[in-house]
Parts: sequence; structure tokens; C-alpha cells
Amino acid sequence: MYQFKNCQELLDLCKKEKLPISQIAIKREMQIFGKSRPWVRNKMKKVRDTMEEAIELGVKSTKKSKYGLVGGDARKVYKTINRSSNMLHSKVAIRAMAYAIATNEQNARMGKIVAFPTAGGSGVVPGVLFSTHEHMKSSKRKMLNALFTASALGIAILKHGGTFSAAKAGCQAEVGIGVAMAAAGVTEMRGGTPEQCLNASALGLKNMLGLACDPLGGLVEVPCVKRNAIGATIAMAASDMSMMGVESVIPMDEVVEAMMNISAGMSETIRETALGGLAITKTGLKLREKMGLPPVPKKYLDWKNRKPGNASNKCGGCNGCG
Ligand code: SF4
Repeated sequence: MYQFKNCQELLDLCKKEKLPISQIAIKREMQIFGKSRPWVRNKMKKVRDTMEEAIELGVKSTKKSKYGLVGGDARKVYKTINRSSNMLHSKVAIRAMAYAIATNEQNARMGKIVAFPTAGGSGVVPGVLFSTHEHMKSSKRKMLNALFTASALGIAILKHGGTFSAAKAGCQAEVGIGVAMAAAGVTEMRGGTPEQCLNASALGLKNMLGLACDPLGGLVEVPCVKRNAIGATIAMAASDMSMMGVESVIPMDEVVEAMMNISAGMSETIRETALGGLAITKTGLKLREKMGLPPVPKKYLDWKNRKPGNASNKCGGCNGCG
């Protein structure tokens, strides 16, 4: 009864039952596991508490990751929150960045995090939700509900044929889906309707489409950690726009389809193989050597002589090159 196969069905359920997304998600879990509401909520409380611990440790730590590529940036960003008057972003956005980095730095240090939706994309949801929760001084219940809403989005994306796998669809499927989930969760936390939640997700994910997975040395560190921080600000911008009444022309289910059709045309070099993009920049290769990893085969470094992979090779006329 509370099952859905895509975002539209989730929305239809919300309308039929006159419930927000979070409550449909809770009822779905109760139905699947045959358990009570407190049992389901307690499971999510553990998720929330683990996220909070990672943030608390992450914003204090200066410890570097094993290869020293990341570590200590969460603390730097967090320290600026109270002197943010000369920053371009608001306090709530800066804190979201700090919390997202904190989570991903903890992941890079092999600390405990929640892979929500994945380890690489684990910073966006807690970054956005914990920062907004503090900003709004919202109840613990609202915070928990926002996590259920975010999780429902993830389920709807998978049910509709999407993926969280960067090996299959690049970083659009990791950090990108983290953005979509966070945008929906934070929009419900702010009092948005189910339509506004899904619209925020669509606006967020659309702006992550095509994102390469190109981690240096194949480690979930660079660009992953900072990508989560900036992803958090995109989720907040998407939520703001949705709350202002700006609508995505493309509905969320179709954005998921777009993500998958883009992934079908993505080179393997930018799908978690560390054979393209940032991973094979001069700096990326130097760091790879320093880490003692085997060199990247020459054929992958010959990218200047490769033709663009589009079907017609015709210019789309965006004038970006001129
Ligand atoms: S670049 Fe790749 S490994 Fe890093 S967060 Fe994105 S998908 Fe994950």
C-alpha cells in the first residue's frame, strides 16, 4: 500500500494519503519490516546519531588522511562561521559546507560515517540537514523526518532505474543523488509540500548531470570531499528556488532518466577508474606516482588527439568556446 516505483508514484501516494513524504517513507518501512513506528524511528535515530558524531569529530580534527590529500579543511571552514560577514554565503550555507567536509574527511580517515547514499557522497545530506536544523532551531522530530524524506527520494530514484554507482554513472550518481536527496529533505524540513520537495530534487540533480567520477589515485578524497561541500550549497539553492515557486520544467523521474542516458555515453575513464578527468592532470599524475601506484597507461594520456565522443560532432551553438 505504501510502495512506490518512482517519484510520481511517491507524490501520488502523498496526495492520496494527505501525508508528507517522510510519513509515507515511515509507513513503507513499517509495512516492509512488519514493525512499529517507534522501531522504524529508532533505526533512523541511529543513522542521525552516527552522522552527528562524524560531524562533531570532523570539524575538530586536523588529522590528514593516509596519503595526506585531505584533512583539516572542515575545521578551517567551521572556524569562519562566526566571522562570516565578509563571506559571500550565509552562515547556514557555510556551516553546511563545514559539516559536509567534516563527514567526508572522516570517511577519508577511515572513520565511521553513514553511506547516505554512498560513502563518497555521504557529506551532502548531513551537511544540509544538520546545518538547517541548527539554523531553524527545528525539533528533533523534524530533523528525523527530513532524513526519511531524503531516503524516500533515494528509493524512488533506484526503483525508477537509477543507480548510486559511480562505476556505472559517474559522480552524478553519488554526489548528484546526495544533492537530490538533501534538497528534498531540507525542503520538507522548511515546510515545503511534497511537490516542492520533488521539484527541489529535480532542480538539484539537473545541475549535477554529467559529473565525472575522477578521483585522484582512485581514493575517495580529491575532488570528492570538496565536491560534497559545494553539492550542499547546490541542494540549498535548489530548495530555496523551489520554496520561491520556481519549477523544474523536467520532472524528477525524467531527470533520473536523463542521468542514466548520460551515463550510457560516459567513457569508462570517468567512471571510478581514475583514468580520466582530474585523476590524469599533471598534479593528479604526480600525486599518483608519490602514492606508489602503477602509472596510467599511455593510451589514456593521449586525450588531446581524441575526437569528442558525440554522435554528430556538430556544434550545439552555445558559444562557450568563443
Ligand atoms: S569523484 Fe567518484 S569517488 Fe569521488 S565522490 Fe564522486 S563518485 Fe565518489
